[in-house]
Amino acid sequence: MSIKVLYSRGGQSEIECAFCAGKGIDPFELLSPISICPVCSGRKVVEIKEPILECAFCGGTGAHPHTRLTCTGCMGRGVQTIKEPVVTCPKCDGSGANIYGNMPCALCHGAGVISTKIEEETAPVEKEAPAEEVEEA
Ligand SMILES: [Zn+2]
Ligand SMILES: [Zn+2]
Ligand SMILES: [Zn+2]
Repeated sequence: MSIKVLYSRGGQSEIECAFCAGKGIDPFELLSPISICPVCSGRKVVEIKEPILECAFCGGTGAHPHTRLTCTGCMGRGVQTIKEPVVTCPKCDGSGANIYGNMPCALCHGAGVISTKIEEETAPVEKEAPAEEVEEA
């Protein structure tokens, strides 16, 4: 993992901006050599909610692999917030890319993994509904 976590506090992490590698300027110099990094607005750091995982689509660079724009999976931060436990994304097989390789996978949004936490949380709710009906009858 190439992500540099500067500090972690209260479920929030402050990491070095992946897109500009902590320099605060646009790495592709799209507008001018001193353009401010669009991801961190020149702050050189970005805040992200924990737990964080490296974005598979851009490999943690924050840059779109085929364009000179920010990665649309992680919005240029190089990491994504994914609640554990996680499993390898069955749609992209962990690559984080769609079948053409030009866009982040629609299922995992480029993370390469998906959280199984959401399924666990929704499952009990579905079971509770029929039980209430029995009590009323
Ligand atoms: Zn930046
Ligand atoms: Zn990314
Ligand atoms: Zn995927």
